[in-house]
Amino acid sequence: GHGHREKEPVAVVGAGLAGCLLACYLARSGYRVDLYERRSDPRAGTPERGRSINLALSERGLDALRRIGLEEQVMADALPMRGRMIHPVAGQLDFQQYSHDGLRAINSISRGALNNALLAAAEAAPGVTVRFDHRLTGLDPRTGEMVFATPAGEVQVSAQVVLGADGAGSVVRSRLAAHHGTEETTDWLDYGYKELTVPAVNGEFALDPGALHIWPRGTSMMIALPNPDRSFTCTMFWPTEGPAGFAALRSPAEIEDHFRTHYPDVVPLAPDLVDDYLGNPVGRLGTVRCSPWQLDGRVALLGDAAHAIVPFYGQGANCGFEDVVELDRCLTETGGDWGRALPLFEQRRKENADAIAEMALANFVEMRDKVASPVFRFVKSVEHALERALPGRFVSRYELVSFSTVPYAQVKRRVRRQQRVLGGAAAALAAGLAVGGYLIGRKP
Ligand code: FAD
Repeated sequence: GHGHREKEPVAVVGAGLAGCLLACYLARSGYRVDLYERRSDPRAGTPERGRSINLALSERGLDALRRIGLEEQVMADALPMRGRMIHPVAGQLDFQQYSHDGLRAINSISRGALNNALLAAAEAAPGVTVRFDHRLTGLDPRTGEMVFATPAGEVQVSAQVVLGADGAGSVVRSRLAAHHGTEETTDWLDYGYKELTVPAVNGEFALDPGALHIWPRGTSMMIALPNPDRSFTCTMFWPTEGPAGFAALRSPAEIEDHFRTHYPDVVPLAPDLVDDYLGNPVGRLGTVRCSPWQLDGRVALLGDAAHAIVPFYGQGANCGFEDVVELDRCLTETGGDWGRALPLFEQRRKENADAIAEMALANFVEMRDKVASPVFRFVKSVEHALERALPGRFVSRYELVSFSTVPYAQVKRRVRRQQRVLGGAAAALAAGLAVGGYLIGRKP
């Protein structure tokens, strides 16, 4: 029976993307939920500076929203991006569609608007109470006793179940690690990120809004995603140290000079370039891995708290939303038995989180370097040809990650199998082209 559900609310720590969606799902299953958030209500104040302003939402995230009736509302403000637009230092732009039919898109969404929509949905759900200005500072994972810092002082609460959706710097995770055997590692990248704005020009987008723009520069890169106000947010991914890094570029003259040399087409589009550069923080990027994610069916982690990843596949939030769907499924399958549901959740999600963490790291090299090469374009065209020739049987990694809900670990295995086919096909095609008098990457 589900009678126990009426006992005590479930505590969800963190009203970010994953926490809010989780509260909605739990409410739908009849749970009462207390959703704790360290920030004040974001709908009242100004958005945080320096956290990514927009993000790419793809099929996994949309699937999770669809199941709870939120897809349409969120998609109303989304800007579909059907491919990458490569900006070389000199020469023509190169549009590379994501899917073989050119129809499938990832969607640029405002992080703030998405979070606010999910907060509103959580608040409107029966049985959910959102408690802003509650920063978790202490937790005893054996008893579920929590301590929060609030403007009115310290507050102590206990819950039968505590779900940590408190992001990459999770306090819930650090409490599990401190005393309860969870091992955690954070692998920081030597790269950071910083954002710049390309404003609308005469009320119009300054770049094609139907693409994700990439300036691949070998060891560095910049990308840009469109916003509903017709601006673009550019994100530089540069080494933090060294001659090509953020630390080396300080004076306005150096900054302008650097952009003129490496990103010449952006300079006329970004009038606040120097101010943005000097005023916006450098964010850190890393991969968090930990295990186990749960203790005794009482405390569990999800979203970035369990598995923060680097952003190069645009999957962090999508993966967190997928966690929510899986946790909900585990609860259903176990008839609401948290003691079985939480270990089952971890067992199913851990290998998938590990898989996307690895694919996201690999995709950085692809984005900053390979997308610019003729060989890459050639391989993509072979992939698309195979997708057309073998519909449903050959599907590229990018499509499987972005346009399907095939579990990430399965994507990795399947792509490894397909790579053998692709290698053969590419070799055969390359041989054919060579015979025809063409060499890959060179003019005839
Ligand atoms: P968060 O969104 O970090 O939410 C955690 C919440 O917990 C916050 O509201 C925080 O205030 C609260 N909190 C923290 N500590 C406490 C505490 N002690 N007590 C109470 N509350 C607390 N993902 C994509 O899918 N697509 C993209 O294109 C994409 N681009 C990205 C670009 C960049 C530059 C970065 C950095 C990330 C990107 N991501 C992207 C990843 C995505 O932002 C995260 O995966 C996602 O935000 C994780 O959601 P979450 O709810 O787990 O954590």
